[in-house]
Amino acid sequence: MQPDSVWQAVLGEIEVSLSRGNFVTYLKNTTLEKQEDGLVVVGVTNPFIMQHIEKKYSDLLIATLRGQGVKVDRLEFKVISSARRPAEVNDTDETPQLVTRASGSGENENLEAGQISYRTPSSSFKQSLNERYTFDNFVVGDGNDVAFAACQAVAQLPGAKYNPLYLYGGVGIGKTHLIQAVGNALQARNPDAKILYIATEQFVREFVQALRNRTAATFANSYRSADVLIVDDVQFLAGKDKIQEEFFHTFNTLHQANKQIIMSSDKPPRDIAMLEDRLKSRFAGGMSIDMQVPDFETRCAIIQTKAESHNSELDPEVVEYLASNGQTNIRELEGALNQLLAWCDVRGLTPTVAIASSLLQVNKGRPKHLSAKQIIERTAKYYQVPLEDMVGPKRDKDIVVPRQVAMYMLHEELHLSYPKIARELGRKDHTTAMHSVRKITKESQINTDLRGAITEIKEHLYA
Ligand code: ADP
Ligand code: MG
Repeated sequence: MQPDSVWQAVLGEIEVSLSRGNFVTYLKNTTLEKQEDGLVVVGVTNPFIMQHIEKKYSDLLIATLRGQGVKVDRLEFKVISSARRPAEVNDTDETPQLVTRASGSGENENLEAGQISYRTPSSSFKQSLNERYTFDNFVVGDGNDVAFAACQAVAQLPGAKYNPLYLYGGVGIGKTHLIQAVGNALQARNPDAKILYIATEQFVREFVQALRNRTAATFANSYRSADVLIVDDVQFLAGKDKIQEEFFHTFNTLHQANKQIIMSSDKPPRDIAMLEDRLKSRFAGGMSIDMQVPDFETRCAIIQTKAESHNSELDPEVVEYLASNGQTNIRELEGALNQLLAWCDVRGLTPTVAIASSLLQVNKGRPKHLSAKQIIERTAKYYQVPLEDMVGPKRDKDIVVPRQVAMYMLHEELHLSYPKIARELGRKDHTTAMHSVRKITKESQINTDLRGAITEIKEHLYA
């Protein structure tokens, strides 16, 4: 490999393991100046950055370089003038390397690598569809009917009308189910079609692995030869430049060949922060559909259908109780139902509202295991602010918002009183806590980034 592509591979790998801010600030604009007899010289743009990289990232750089097969006995840094930075020459210039190689520009090494790994680990490039997700067992109602209709249309005539098809909405409302149902319907009609389903996190992992194993061409070809490409949770492309570049070319190749692309996300393309504009416009260039939590009647129908699939019959009262009781999405609803059925099954009891309610109460008790300290720490960690600043006097915006989110979480998860919340965050005045909780409650209804942040913090807390 050329020194530059070695370095691009190193950066690509490091990019996914560091926070976005750290990567951009310290490493994005570095270059590989020299690589000779075990000496590696890295070019950086200013002395301050150099010091920091040397202290914080030397080990990581050495390990990653070695992972790329580079001999490193000594790592040195050198300040170079910023005029020479590749990023300033032309930001889009970096990646065509990958692309040219991917399109088979005659580099034997890559073609061979491609052929070999096609046989052996090619299955790692393919995450198969789950047969459980079909149109037949999807209950249609208010909230998901438009998405359902669009998915059926695509399954009828892929690559024609809605390309790409992009479904978005909160967690557990049936996005994965629907996009896989399209894949399953198409595969059933045409068993030879190459229908690829991939979760974005998996795509990212494979991309990094392909860079490491120098099988980027195989990786690219594998996706670009799909007849239908289904990509779940594309919001996880956010902030990963190299992967976005790769995905952009994959998208174009398929789209130009009228191959159907289906995506899901937790928000509309325009709201995905740190996603390249050209991807946003591609994603929004077909059909985007907002999915909602299904309404009460639909939720009842879903519970009934799921109970039947377990060969259980539920009292309408119990169904309504489950459908109305705080479960904010279908996955949770399903979880509550399964728990109820299992509990009753083991004891030979018929499910009742009383049993259901006592089981759900137990669930609600779950946050008790959390302490206020854990919540504040986790929030601080998410926003990458020091804990002492969270509870300290600073009032800068980058501290105030995390602090408000922490207050909101204490309110939501621990049901603490406002004075107590204020004290936990080193505030004297309980009205501060009250205003913060109200503000975040209100804003999280309209700001998808904020909602995403809260969900992620919660997921970590309960993981
Ligand atoms: P998402 O991808 O939006 O997070 P999923 O597609 O994974 O949600 O759905 C969560 C669970 O709820 C799955 O088991 C799915 O089968 C089920 N589900 C969601 N909506 C429906 C529906 N309308 N009918 C039947 N099952 C549903
Ligand atoms: Mg999903």
